[in-house]
Amino acid sequence: MSVFDLSLAAARDALRSRSVSATELTRAYLDAAEALNPQLNAYITITPDEALAQAKAADAALAAGTAGALAGIPVAVKDLYCTKGVRTTAGSRILAPFVPPYESTVTAKMLAEGAVFLGKANLDEFAMGSSTGTSAYGPATNPWRRRNETTKLVPGGSSGGSAAAVAARIALGATATDTGGSIRQPASFCGVTGIKPTYGRCSRWGVVAYGSSLDQPGPIGRSVEDCAILLGAMAGHDPKDSTSANLPVPDFAAACRRGVKGLRIGVPREYRVEGMSAEIDAIWRQGLDWLREAGAEVVDVSLPHTRYGLATYYIVAPAEASSNLARYDGVRFGARSEGADLVELYQNTRADGFGAEVKRRIMIGTYVLSAGYYDAYYLRAQKVRALIRKDFTDAFRDVDALLAPTAPTAAFGQDENMEDPVTMYLNDVFTVPVNLAGIPGLSVPAGLDGAGLPLGLQVLGRPFDEETVFAVGAALERAAGFSATPAIRAGEGA
Ligand code: GLN
Repeated sequence: MSVFDLSLAAARDALRSRSVSATELTRAYLDAAEALNPQLNAYITITPDEALAQAKAADAALAAGTAGALAGIPVAVKDLYCTKGVRTTAGSRILAPFVPPYESTVTAKMLAEGAVFLGKANLDEFAMGSSTGTSAYGPATNPWRRRNETTKLVPGGSSGGSAAAVAARIALGATATDTGGSIRQPASFCGVTGIKPTYGRCSRWGVVAYGSSLDQPGPIGRSVEDCAILLGAMAGHDPKDSTSANLPVPDFAAACRRGVKGLRIGVPREYRVEGMSAEIDAIWRQGLDWLREAGAEVVDVSLPHTRYGLATYYIVAPAEASSNLARYDGVRFGARSEGADLVELYQNTRADGFGAEVKRRIMIGTYVLSAGYYDAYYLRAQKVRALIRKDFTDAFRDVDALLAPTAPTAAFGQDENMEDPVTMYLNDVFTVPVNLAGIPGLSVPAGLDGAGLPLGLQVLGRPFDEETVFAVGAALERAAGFSATPAIRAGEGA
């Protein structure tokens, strides 16, 4: 057994009992990250000096008995979180020279609990995408391969670097963000676990903004319990984010042990979409059987406005993005392309700094917000969003949680789905309604498809009821006993 076999929870216990030191653990993870990153491109930046200094501090705290919840745990940070003194690119050329003078609230909380940051994880540019294919730093690669194939697959997106790093065991956990599925879909594609908390559970302060009414930080981990431990350290009220909720942070890890006896689980019938593979349908039915066997009651529910989810999301998210990205003008921070006058400087900076997908979204967003089209698109989308939220509110009157597939496909090839943006958007069909409604969603690996690729199921819950979501997720995890491992991972044959 190697240190890479330890879950976050097990590593925490090993660190506390001093059977491994934070420095040893960190060094092992750094070496593995350096060795595998050329194949995976999961990290944009690896920070060995900072990581080893943090590990040393964690060892001192462990020895003194003052260790926090994440003392000595090596994690990856999505390169959307501002990290003081460490370059933060958001996957964009326009932020290539940006070294934040401050730390995001979530990462500051994790550091206060003793976490060790190995580096900054790859992502789609400004978190816009479902594959990391829009990253200005090259795509990340999924550590899984189809059986008897060498085709490189996407890790999902936008938090694909975070999910790939956790799956390949070159991070023990990771931070991620989810605006329309970016925690859950990569977790599903890489055979790991991720939770998008309720909107407002974690502070967005210091996280580069995409769609501010949808964005939510959350963790990706190896197990449901690992995610619970990470979320416990990340969550909490922050006066610097006016949308962060002033609520106590429950003991999420304890909730994982609650079981599901007596819970009512809803099956949204509109999620049986056309074109969904028979394998995903089968794993979904299997998941429901597992929950039944564990003592839950399964009932059908209806979320009638589901079919408008994608259209609504792809109006609201670009609208907010076009406004949020107006700040990248080459004047205050980030990259600058010179011009003859101020307007030309703006134009050149933005033309050179943004990639094609980001430009497309800025144009869509500007269009739907423009005078004359505002009512027809943006205002209409806001109204439909309210109906989508109401669908969930109505469903949760009857059930405690919902179970659905996380994504309509397994991981696809790096060359697939790239020509046509709309095909890529369709991959978000099951995840975006959750962000529009603001509710929590947890993706758990449930099994493999015929090609040997992982498939995830997502558990959705009431606002601020992550505890039930963790309880159901943990029950699924126990029943699934998912133990398959990807082709590329640390601690193998070394
Ligand atoms: N794939 C979705 C998009 O491109 C979601 C991304 C995200 O959650 N950040 O917008």
